[in-house]
Amino acid sequence: MILRARTILPVSQPPIENGAVVISGNKIRAVGSWADLPSPADEKVLDLGEVILLPGLVNAHCHLDYTDMAGELPPPKTFTDWIPLITAAKTAWSYSEYAHSWLHGAHQLLKTGTTTVADIEAMSDLLPEAWDATPLRVFSFLEMTGIRARRNPKDILREAVGTIDSLTHARSSASLAPHAAYSTLPELLRLTAGLARKRKWRITTHIAESEDEFEMFTRARGRMFDWLKRNERDNSDCGLGSPVAHLARQRLLGENVLAVHVNCLARGDATLLAKNRSHVAHCPRSHDYFKHPKFERERLANAGVNLCLGTDSLATVRQTGKQRPELDLFAEMQALADRDKAVSPEEILRMATVNGARALGLAGKIGGLSAGAFADAIAIPFAGKISRVHEAVLGHSGNVAASLIEGRWAVPPR
Ligand SMILES: [Zn+2]
Repeated sequence: MILRARTILPVSQPPIENGAVVISGNKIRAVGSWADLPSPADEKVLDLGEVILLPGLVNAHCHLDYTDMAGELPPPKTFTDWIPLITAAKTAWSYSEYAHSWLHGAHQLLKTGTTTVADIEAMSDLLPEAWDATPLRVFSFLEMTGIRARRNPKDILREAVGTIDSLTHARSSASLAPHAAYSTLPELLRLTAGLARKRKWRITTHIAESEDEFEMFTRARGRMFDWLKRNERDNSDCGLGSPVAHLARQRLLGENVLAVHVNCLARGDATLLAKNRSHVAHCPRSHDYFKHPKFERERLANAGVNLCLGTDSLATVRQTGKQRPELDLFAEMQALADRDKAVSPEEILRMATVNGARALGLAGKIGGLSAGAFADAIAIPFAGKISRVHEAVLGHSGNVAASLIEGRWAVPPR
């Protein structure tokens, strides 16, 4: 199949006017200008017309199973106040509510251009059926906590690994997510890090998300410290340095690690992340919901950290007006552009494509249109000048005109 479009924006190379992408099976065979392509012998040509054809977006952080909590939790005063709210909401839900919510979220991502998602699974029982029910490529990171239940970290890990080993799928896969430094014991972080290195697995974790967490680890005091102490957490790992330094001490940082949020940095943290080649996922609308301190994009980028973009869950996106918010990476790109005037549209798009691919260990396979990559592409309407193509992507809102995943239409062109 050959897809022709007014503009191709491969991200991995400069934009192409009147271009085409040649697809064989689930991979891309060639990308170039229409005029330069060898004449298509008996291949089917589909002219998408006045659109930008670009790589499917890579959502580096999501909780699909919380989608139907959209607009349910009003923004709390502090992050610590939010923890009992989400815990209560989770306890009140049945299995079928989680299942429905997960699929609802997958549908929202697909229609708004995400083709790969790094998803935190609070309910691993949903797999592999949930994977089968969507064309989306899902990296499912199984959430591990274990403060309240006082479970042995070895048991928590053994159970998660048992689930991972029982799951096989052509497109999607599972791995580990120690939930956060504050919600786990240091031993779980150490054990997870060691096992992930051995098995060559990617891991993800929430880190340095709030000022409360930063104060807890750096100074062994504050709202979160006190609240967790009341809930029987052994806080002897606090007061030794920043949350990022805590991960380093547990030997968790590495090239296989996607650190989520990283809103609060101590001196040296950006360098520590860069030196360990760890990746960072920023979630602009969730950041805005909690009113966290300014995300230090430039400091992290200047240190050399690979920065990606995620939606987080809809439980932490503000509802404006009557319309419930939806999972949408275009809305996240716009939110970042609104708050950070120093970042270029081109860089924002890289965060939502090639950078996310690198963080998931799939550089050259997803997040860019190039020969040998999976045929994951989306189209958005565009009739403007090629020099404005990045601005046009950032200006897009609503559903995409088409979405292709591994050579099959997830959203067929109209
Ligand atoms: Zn999250």
